[in-house]
This record gives sequence, C-alpha cells and structure tokens, in this order.
Amino acid sequence: MRYISTRGQAPALSFTDAMLSGLARDGGLYVPETVPRLSVDEIAALRGASYEEIAFRVMAPFVGDEIDAAVFRDLIAKAYAGFGHDARAPLVQLGPNHFLLELFHGPTLAFKDFAMQIIGQLFQHVLAARGERVTIVGATSGDTGSAAIEAFRGLDNVDVFILYPHGRVSEVQRRQMTTPTEANVHALALEGDFDDCQARLKDMFNHFDFRDRVRLAGVNSINWARVLAQVVYYFSSAVSLGAPDRKISFTVPTGNFGDIFAGFIAKEMGLPIDRLVIATNRNDILHRCLQTSEYRKAGVAPSISPSMDIEVSSNFERALFWAHDHDGAAVAALMEELKTGGFRVSENAMAALRAHYDSGMADEDTTSATIAAARRQTGELLCPHSAVGVHVANQHLGATPMVTLATAHPAKFPAAVEAATGIHPPLPNRMADLYDRAERITQVPNDLTALETLIEERLTP
Ligand SMILES: *Cc1c(COP(=O)(O)O)cnc(C)c1O
Repeated sequence: MRYISTRGQAPALSFTDAMLSGLARDGGLYVPETVPRLSVDEIAALRGASYEEIAFRVMAPFVGDEIDAAVFRDLIAKAYAGFGHDARAPLVQLGPNHFLLELFHGPTLAFKDFAMQIIGQLFQHVLAARGERVTIVGATSGDTGSAAIEAFRGLDNVDVFILYPHGRVSEVQRRQMTTPTEANVHALALEGDFDDCQARLKDMFNHFDFRDRVRLAGVNSINWARVLAQVVYYFSSAVSLGAPDRKISFTVPTGNFGDIFAGFIAKEMGLPIDRLVIATNRNDILHRCLQTSEYRKAGVAPSISPSMDIEVSSNFERALFWAHDHDGAAVAALMEELKTGGFRVSENAMAALRAHYDSGMADEDTTSATIAAARRQTGELLCPHSAVGVHVANQHLGATPMVTLATAHPAKFPAAVEAATGIHPPLPNRMADLYDRAERITQVPNDLTALETLIEERLTP
C-alpha cells in the first residue's frame, strides 16, 4: 500500500513513513493510492466481533505487511485497554431511527482518543524497531493535546510537547494536560491564543536546523493514521444496526473534517453509507460551501463547542482531492487560491461532494436548546459538540437509520451543559480525582527562540 500527496508533487511513501512524516513535502496531505475494499461477506462477518477485532480487519489492509499481524493485534489491544466501556464505542438510541455513537469513553473523554491511542502504540513500535526517537510538537485548543499527552506518556522513543493557549482551555482540558507526571510529556502554556500556538508550531517545522536536530514529528489531525483509526467505528456501529444488509447515514460534528472524512473512507471500502451529514457550529465554512459552492474564510468566532472553532478545515483538502478525481494539480491550485481568502468549487466537483455529503449548522442558542431538549426527551446529557450534531441530524432523519457521533463527554464541557440543563455533569469515576492531582504548569512566552531553547533543554537525553 502506497500513500500519495493530495497535491501530486511529493514522493509516494509507505504507511509507516506517511505516519511519521505527517504533512507531505509539497504541503499536501497523504492519502492511500487506492482504497482497499471489503466484500459484503467480509463486512457481514464483522457482526458480533469485538471492537478490537473490527479495528484489526478494517485497518490491516492499509498497513499491509509493514507490521506483523500478531504485533498489530497486540498494539490495538493495548490502545483500547484503558477505555471506560467494554464496547469502546457503544450506541444508544435517541429516537425512532436515530442513534448516538458514544465516542467519549477514552482516557481524555473525547473521540480523539480513538486515533491518538493507537498512533502512540504505532509510533512506539515503529521507532523502537528502527532504533530512532522523535520529538512530537503539537498545538491544541484543548482536546488534541490532552489526547496526545495521554497516548504518549511514558513511551520510550518519543518526547511530546503540547502548546496550548494560556488561560483559554477548559479546566478539565488543562488538568488532563498538566497532571501526568511522566518525564517525556510536557504541556506548555503559551502566552497567546490558539493561532499563536499554531503559528509557532509552523515556525518550528520551517526552521530546518531545529527540525532536523530534534527530529520533529507531528500528530495533528491531518496525519493519515489518525483518519484511518476513525474508520473503524463507522464499521462497528453500522454492522450492529444491520449493515451490510441495509444502509446507514451518519451525522458528524465537524471542524477539521478528519472524523467525517473517515466515514467517507469507510464508504469507499464498501460500507453501505447513505448520507454523510456535516454538522458545524457558527463557524460554518463547510456548510456555506455545500450551500453556495464558495469556500471562503470568514474569521473565527468563539463558541460553546470550541473544538469545532475553525477558520478553514484542513482535511477538507482530502475530500477535494476525491471530488477532483485525484487531480493533485487542481487541488494545489485551489490551495494556492485559498491564501487570498477562498475559492469557488467547480460544478463537477460540487456534484461529486453532494453525492456523499449533506450539511447543516447550529448556532449558539440552538446548541443550548438541543442540550436541554435531549435531556428532557431522552435523559441523555450531550456535550455541546454532540448537540450540534443532534440538531443537524434531526433535520435529516428519514427511513435510513441515522447515527450521530457524540464526540466528547458532557463532563469535559461542564459550563455549557450546566447552563443548558442546570445539571453539573460529573466526571466518570475513573478520573474523579482529576481536580485533586498536582499540576505542572510551564508558562512560555510567544517567542520561537525561547520555545526552541526550552524544548531542547527538556528533551530526554
Ligand atoms: C476535534 C473535535 C471535533 C471535530 O473533529 P474534526 O475531525 O476536526 O472534524 C468535534 N468535537 C470534538 C469534541 C472534538 O474534540
């Protein structure tokens, strides 16, 4: 299995090299050259299998012979052992033909654990086999950073540094990043906002001296291995609702388009998915694009679903690559145009997108009202991101069963949940002592040299 860039100019890589490099050298994103298909019988045979078994059968064709099958099974087992629910990704019913896929039973209570936990195991295995180590640096508005620190803590061949905006993440998110005690993980509170964190991260990747010296690697949401790990729960949920004998639709609370794009890959693999519904908050560049064909920046407005507060959606590039029949030059031209503020998607490409995707938006009041209504009607406490999904899904219900992805646990965003319902959502028992654990807070100036110096001082010798 070879991986190619969405911009067509970077060398094709193996699975492990694509995973370790993250972004392609031409600025594009790695995608598999061809998507392996599972037959109807192979999909039917997933019914009743454990989450781990489904993960192995879905991901193995993408990994090929680069990792021994028994080893890969073992890495998958380790990745999901720390989840707080034996089903890993359980379904609950919200209404007639509407189901909620709870993706928040991982160690940091958001769906990002599904990908980050297996990526941690894969990095460790591949680096140990090669006798190499890397320094992972990431920028986070909250969920990615906590999931990365949790996944990589205590692993031998990686040091992890996460930049988060000082004073601008929720207390649960901050504590999840600052309480782990392992020497190889470091949460850095940058004096600036999330854009500053991302800008300094980019500066480090562009500072080749530093980049090579510390062997910089990235695990942000454009890393192909993260998308791949998310394909698994589309299969596990769909087969438990009757696939492949009937079609299933999905609604996905969307920011950077990684999660919903995993659904598209599941469909390409042969899973009978009817509609993939993009649900956005007030930062609705994707919804506007689906409606008007214009993909245009409009700034970021803070919301009560902060993990979806984006100006542009990085993984959408992958969808555009498919919508342009794998024409890397066409995608590169659009991405060049994006630098000037946006672009218009061609009629053909729009038709290709609309063949799979629908979209909808929930503003702030609607999100709160949806949290309250779900509590009243079903007893379920939704996090604000999941509520955006449920609202949009409600507009797309029909004869096909609808699965809405619940992307975070309500206790991760207690203020918004309490404002909507009057209920303070408790943390699950296994992390009830989060507020009692000691924090290690390292505040850093918004300055490249200071950051690089600190990182080199803290590296495991
Ligand atoms: C990251 C995140 C999202 C958005 O996922 P994308 O893959 O970026 O579209 C939605 N909800 C929560 C809780 C998240 O952490």
